[in-house]
Amino acid sequence: MSGPVSPVDTTAPQDIAGPAGTEITDGRRTVVGGIPVTRSLPRARRRTVGAWCFVDHFGPEDVSGRPGMQVPPHPHTGLQTLTWLVEGEIVHRDSLGSDQRIRPGQLNLMTSGHGIAHSEMSPAEHAPRMHGLQLWVALPEQQCNGEPRFEHHAELPVLIDGNAVLTVLAGRFGSMEAPAVVHTPLVAVELVLPGPGQHRLALEPRFEYGVLTMSGAANVGEVTVTPGSLLYLAPGRLELTVEADHPARMVLLGGEPFEEDLVMWWNFVGRSHQEIVEAREDWIAGRRFGQVAGCSADPLPAPALPNVRLKARDRHGRAVG
Ligand code: MN
Repeated sequence: MSGPVSPVDTTAPQDIAGPAGTEITDGRRTVVGGIPVTRSLPRARRRTVGAWCFVDHFGPEDVSGRPGMQVPPHPHTGLQTLTWLVEGEIVHRDSLGSDQRIRPGQLNLMTSGHGIAHSEMSPAEHAPRMHGLQLWVALPEQQCNGEPRFEHHAELPVLIDGNAVLTVLAGRFGSMEAPAVVHTPLVAVELVLPGPGQHRLALEPRFEYGVLTMSGAANVGEVTVTPGSLLYLAPGRLELTVEADHPARMVLLGGEPFEEDLVMWWNFVGRSHQEIVEAREDWIAGRRFGQVAGCSADPLPAPALPNVRLKARDRHGRAVG
């Protein structure tokens, strides 16, 4: 998926303070590759949750008789992209030669390292609906110059808790660990609640968390989370109660607060203006990122840089560089 151009999401509504240590914010609606998306991160004053630096919830969208998702080749640096599908199909192709169809219940993880290019396109024959998540994870500085890598995981750890089904998408949750290779302490868990019920989730108190709902609604602690909003929970919690009256599909993201200051621009995560400038120039010149074989669409052109120097920001959105 392809990211925002603006270094700061100035269109973001103000954060709404919830009970102590919580914030509930509305995501920003946009369109990516022809599919409506709600973008919950980054926010003006909440850039990351753990190392999670970008949260796009796409669909559910009726794509019958339409091309579906169409994201042509584009570059990434300094991050991992995690794709989780609930409905639909996407073919991922990248400059390592990967050609991988992802189906519901499966996970793709692409690690950009120093640079990778990929495309994400629904196949010509596809299911009538598209629904999923694309999440980005900021790589710690020592991983940013590493080799690119792609992983597809058709099997993920699943825990049945009463009538709820918990799937660990990334990181460790209790005794279960997802197979995707990550580089900071983090977690992503999907909770499918088929009907009325209450569930207590053990949390890691060093982690901060974000909770979103992909469908339905649930009471999380003292806050009702509905589609389009993100509940942020500061570190220090040992557990969380999730209660639903009706079927709901929730996602819990968490991690140790990411203390490195970041410059995020378009599809690049870096540490300085100069790094972003070089990544953009390399993409324009056809260097570094390689070619996405098998994708006939023209690569995405890099947008123009703003007329100001891009500033590194801390996790609260404060400019530091
Ligand atoms: Mn992408």
